[in-house]
Amino acid sequence: MKTHRAFCTVETRGHTDVHDLTEPLRRAIAESGIREGQALVFVSGSTAGVTTIEFEPGLRKDLPELFERLAPEKADYHHHATWGDDNGAAHLRAALLGPSVVVPIAEGAPLLGEWQQVVLVDFDTRPRRRRVLLQAMGE
Ligand code: ZN
Repeated sequence: MKTHRAFCTVETRGHTDVHDLTEPLRRAIAESGIREGQALVFVSGSTAGVTTIEFEPGLRKDLPELFERLAPEKADYHHHATWGDDNGAAHLRAALLGPSVVVPIAEGAPLLGEWQQVVLVDFDTRPRRRRVLLQAMGE
């Protein structure tokens, strides 16, 4: 079995900013030479997450609105008392979404649905530079 590790860097605006990672993932899998296996997409950090969604303008607004209903940004959180931070909602949203997805690799490409993109969601309360791991494993 072969493992190939690549990273992509994403400049975000924070506040549940959604970025499409599908092309960097395709490139990383192509570079790896792996034809059959799995690819892990992982963001390190406790205020961002990775998921799949249809990357279109409506859902790019619907997703932040959903998280605003679940964990409002302006609410008060115990986390704010711990560190003097203002991003309790960002941590909770990231915990709900999770930091990674695993995508099957088939014939050298990610086996995604036609309307399914892999996205990074940055929940923090300020712009961030995120480094996302794209790790392909297989044969
Ligand atoms: Zn914090």
